[in-house]
Amino acid sequence: MSKIALYRKYRPVSFDELYGQEHIATTLKNSVATGAFSHAYLFYGPRGTGKTSAARILAKAINCEHNVSGNPDNKCEKCQLINDGKTVDIIEIDAASHTQVDNIREVIIEKASFVPTSLRYKVYIIDEAHMLSKSSFNALLKTLEEPPEHAVFILATTEINKIIPTIQSRCQRFDFRRIDDASMEKRLAYIAKQEKIEIDAKSLEMIVRASEGGFRDAISLLDQANDLAGGKITEAVLASVLGLADFASVEDYVFALVSKETKSALEIFHKALENGYEPGQFYKNSLETLRRLLFASISGVEEVGLSTVTAKMFIEALAKTGTSEILQIIDTFIKTDTAYKYSVLPQLSLEIATTKIALGFEEQADKTKYSSSAVEKQAESSSPQGRLVTGKGNPEAKWQQFLLEVKNKNTSVHAILRVCEPDFKGNEVCLTFPYKFHKERIEDTRNREVVEEMLTKVYGEKYIVKCVLKTGMANEPAVIQKFAGKDDLLDDALEIFGGEVTD
Ligand SMILES: [Zn+2]
Repeated sequence: MSKIALYRKYRPVSFDELYGQEHIATTLKNSVATGAFSHAYLFYGPRGTGKTSAARILAKAINCEHNVSGNPDNKCEKCQLINDGKTVDIIEIDAASHTQVDNIREVIIEKASFVPTSLRYKVYIIDEAHMLSKSSFNALLKTLEEPPEHAVFILATTEINKIIPTIQSRCQRFDFRRIDDASMEKRLAYIAKQEKIEIDAKSLEMIVRASEGGFRDAISLLDQANDLAGGKITEAVLASVLGLADFASVEDYVFALVSKETKSALEIFHKALENGYEPGQFYKNSLETLRRLLFASISGVEEVGLSTVTAKMFIEALAKTGTSEILQIIDTFIKTDTAYKYSVLPQLSLEIATTKIALGFEEQADKTKYSSSAVEKQAESSSPQGRLVTGKGNPEAKWQQFLLEVKNKNTSVHAILRVCEPDFKGNEVCLTFPYKFHKERIEDTRNREVVEEMLTKVYGEKYIVKCVLKTGMANEPAVIQKFAGKDDLLDDALEIFGGEVTD
């Protein structure tokens, strides 16, 4: 008795089922619906994110006799021919397989010129396209320069750098992203329900985390676990039989860390080691969790696409910590790991990092005890972006808050203010600008009014704004070149110039 693998059974058959890649599905669907599809595509992304499925759906959609708003109907004769693999006009080539690579030139050059036998379009799906030999790439390039009317080429790859630029430039490129945990969890739960597989939330989470954004791996793991567990999947089965890492312990550890519960953090770590967790893996997974937590602290938990269990933990953690603290923790993690990587005790790096982080918190608490921590706290809580505001002491802490307020009011004024240095003296604020151009922009009555209004709003009192030019700086803005090397300053420069044009 042969059993259909769950992965095959639940393979998406229309664009609407391309979970987690909605941005790509929508574009492809529209291009099919309007008949404006390309003759060459490049699908790039990690394994198991739906590249081949998307390619097959596209092949079907452009050949379907009655596509439904760009989706294949999966009913007509053509769709059925393709679904049953009974047409020679869909040519799937796995470039990783040598036997196929040997005749790829012949397949592409010679056969592409012949009209399709049973379909409207011949579709070449070349998987692992980065594995093509140089001669195959050249053959492909020739064909892509003048693709036959009746042929469509879809290249799928996990390594975009290995696809030569001349090929890339002839293809319409789509970047497939890792499936976020929330989408994955939803899909797995659906499949489990359809298949009458019993699985608890924590086990679901373990599968989601272990598959790192790849659907194929996730569904295969569910399948395997189900075979072993006989309909009821538990954490024990996943951990002992499949050797899946227990992500819950990593998250508990990170939670204890940000909650400043050092003893408990170390206990969780040691227990994980006792249960067979490899220290290097625990470190890597902790870092990954911290990275997500950092992102969540900036963009909001709902933006990170977390599974239910993790999202709940993140919300609780972010009530206790903020962006700057998470950054410090990550920094300590990386520095400690670099220093102790080759220690004879592999768990030492994480133990020291945990302790250092705890000590860091203590030092910080001492430092801020007599400083303006109250002001900082106030700035933090009233900032629209949550805990982004840091700064040490007055009035810089409030200056960040002030910038945020300005940003909400007028983005181009905000972009200019970001490059100035403020100096508060009595009821006067002196703003020092690197360029005359910036200075004049703020001296402009309307912009100055925005600055004054926001100063009053944030500082609670009226300030006189004075603008000066930084001594020793060139007066004329070679602004773009000056800014180009610095992180997002180029954007600011463009924003400033954008403001200039419209004003
Ligand atoms: Zn059809």
